[in-house]
Amino acid sequence: MTALPQRPPNYDVVVVGGALAGAATAILLLRQQPKLRVLIVEKAAAFARRVGEATVEVSGYFLSRVLGLTQHLNEAHLVKQGMRFWFFNGQTKSLADCSEIGGRYLARVPAYQVDRAVLDEEVLRRACALGAELWRPANVGRIVLNAGGEQTVEVKRHERTESVRARWVVDASGIAAVLARQEGWWRPNTAHPTTAVWARWTGVKDWDGLELAGKFPDWAKTCHGIRATATNHFTGDGWWAWCIPLKGGDVSVGVVFDQRRVHWPEGGQLGDRLKHFLRQHPVAREILDDATWREGDVHWRKNLAYWSTIFAGDGFALVGDASAFLDPLYSPGMDWVSFTASASAKLILSQQRGEDIAAALAKHNRDFAQSYQRWSTALYLDKYEYLGEYDLMRLAFLLDLGLYYLGVASQPYKYGAAALSEPVFASPVSAPFFHLMRLYNRRLARIARRRRERGRLGRRNAGRSFMFKGYTFSRSSVLPVFSALAGWLLLEIREGWRSWGRPRVAEKQPDRLLIPVGGTTPHQ
Ligand SMILES: Cc1cc2nc3c(=O)[nH]c(=O)nc-3n(C[C@H](O)[C@H](O)[C@H](O)COP(=O)(O)OP(=O)(O)OC[C@H]3O[C@@H](n4cnc5c(N)ncnc54)[C@H](O)[C@@H]3O)c2cc1C
Repeated sequence: MTALPQRPPNYDVVVVGGALAGAATAILLLRQQPKLRVLIVEKAAAFARRVGEATVEVSGYFLSRVLGLTQHLNEAHLVKQGMRFWFFNGQTKSLADCSEIGGRYLARVPAYQVDRAVLDEEVLRRACALGAELWRPANVGRIVLNAGGEQTVEVKRHERTESVRARWVVDASGIAAVLARQEGWWRPNTAHPTTAVWARWTGVKDWDGLELAGKFPDWAKTCHGIRATATNHFTGDGWWAWCIPLKGGDVSVGVVFDQRRVHWPEGGQLGDRLKHFLRQHPVAREILDDATWREGDVHWRKNLAYWSTIFAGDGFALVGDASAFLDPLYSPGMDWVSFTASASAKLILSQQRGEDIAAALAKHNRDFAQSYQRWSTALYLDKYEYLGEYDLMRLAFLLDLGLYYLGVASQPYKYGAAALSEPVFASPVSAPFFHLMRLYNRRLARIARRRRERGRLGRRNAGRSFMFKGYTFSRSSVLPVFSALAGWLLLEIREGWRSWGRPRVAEKQPDRLLIPVGGTTPHQ
């Protein structure tokens, strides 16, 4: 064992947590300024598997074209084939009866299904190869912030505690959210109470294999791409579940539900309860028929959504889950990592060049607070009301995904990595799109609520199939967005009129989360 130094060492940056967000921020910093003294402190001796296994187009861009991991992604992970959604009701007896939304062909823009234990080790290895020092296993305790000066970080390793001084602390500690909790900035997102239960499984059926093709030949013919490597979603009233394959054969399957709508089965082992819950869906029942969950790899987490009221100050920045978490639907977690890591590295590099960062800091806090608030209210606040409705989700899928392609995912491809320093919904140009998304999500939720009251949920969930050609970044991708808007208008005329007018008190959701968007910088 090497002797520990007598005096606390000095670093330019101490990164708390060496998983994706922390190691990626270290890479961005060291690539621009190789002489920076960066220390990464990671609690885990080795990364275990974790959720966060599907990238989408922005995080795919970040991992492949910013961090340079394309070869690693192709070799150690799987290329993702978009998203598919499956719907059921009382008439759907088998997989082939269930309605489906998904791509007819392969996906056009790269994204990946990743084993996070493998991916995060690789990103951390690359950060160290660029010059970051790694203390592992080591646990960060108290952090003393000092605006514009040296931050002091208490680290426990080798059974002793030592103090490390650095100009910057990057908090990448995930849900531990070390700084936000310590400083009292951490807030639960009580407007959106969700729980997740998940496991890694063996023996999951091959979606594209001969067994299912023999059993359901017409069903097998409708998709010309690959179903197995998509993120397949099973949906129901107030819940959805993911089915994500990992390289090597294991499959990640988990459910997320609105705590107000779903009663989770009690008693017995958590893995059994997860399987029992999913068996209500004919597609999950078929696919998981012979599957078993891996012992010791079954997990749950309650009240998933939260945020920090402060994202950065002169001397610290919060990245990834340490700063906020939205909802796993549509896999935005690694997008959030991409935005927070890129913007935080930009701030730190600017200060290191001797620039005045006061205005940039205020903008950073304002942008990320607004981004979280708008992302959450536009996409997620009402979503669980209509997740299980084929026709409503078809419209939402076309609109949510189309607007993401046109306004978000296309940006780094057009303007390069710099576009990732501007989070979603931060720019004034995005305001009308936020209002549009908020409006249609709210309307679809109200239509679903009215259906529930009238006992008419899920009536269009049997025997339908929407095989989509897929979005690209070309102008022609506007067409499906317009056709979905027209579909929404027709729906309003046909059915939506029943819920026009002011919502009753019981069904009122907060208009926006109560997040201050003032661009404040904390007093330290
Ligand atoms: C149910 C569910 C499903 C999800 N699915 C997806 C998905 O499909 N796609 C997607 O993009 N995202 C998904 N996410 C989100 C994704 O998991 C996270 O956004 C992502 O893992 C965040 O990475 P991170 O590096 O910020 O944090 P983490 O991966 O949590 O890493 C934090 C690191 O900090 C270390 N640490 C913590 N405390 C200390 C300390 N005191 N000292 C030292 N080290 C410390 C930990 O050991 C850990 O290695 C999902 C989340 C949930 C809950």
